Amino acid sequence: MDKFKTLGLKLTPQRIAILKYLDGNQEHPSAERIFKALKKKFPTMSFATVYNTLEHLKKKGQLLELNIDPKKKRFDPNLKPHHHLLCEKCNKIFDIYHEIPIPISKLEEEGFQINSSHVEFFGICPDCKIKK
Ligand SMILES: [Zn+2]
Ligand SMILES: [Zn+2]
Repeated sequence: MDKFKTLGLKLTPQRIAILKYLDGNQEHPSAERIFKALKKKFPTMSFATVYNTLEHLKKKGQLLELNIDPKKKRFDPNLKPHHHLLCEKCNKIFDIYHEIPIPISKLEEEGFQINSSHVEFFGICPDCKIKK
């Protein structure tokens, strides 16, 4: 919980629930999904609370916003560098930790300054492939 104290957020029970939901979450949930999951426990929670908390975490660099899913913004609390694969059947996003060589030095030769890189894969996950 200590790491939450540095966020500059007033930690209401609802916000703490959002932070806990995200902590270690590997499902890359959308704001809607987080809202639905927590609404049962917190019937008075509003979607704006979820949305604003996510925006705040994003600004603080504690949450990544993913645009890989064309239908919904998805969020990732995992800040370790990694890539993503979207399964086009089940819409799950998978973390990809394989190193993917990107010739960054060439881009720098062309005058770009590269701060981060992220590769998006689109395909079918092993589970969906078996079901087919
Ligand atoms: Zn799948
Ligand atoms: Zn991820």
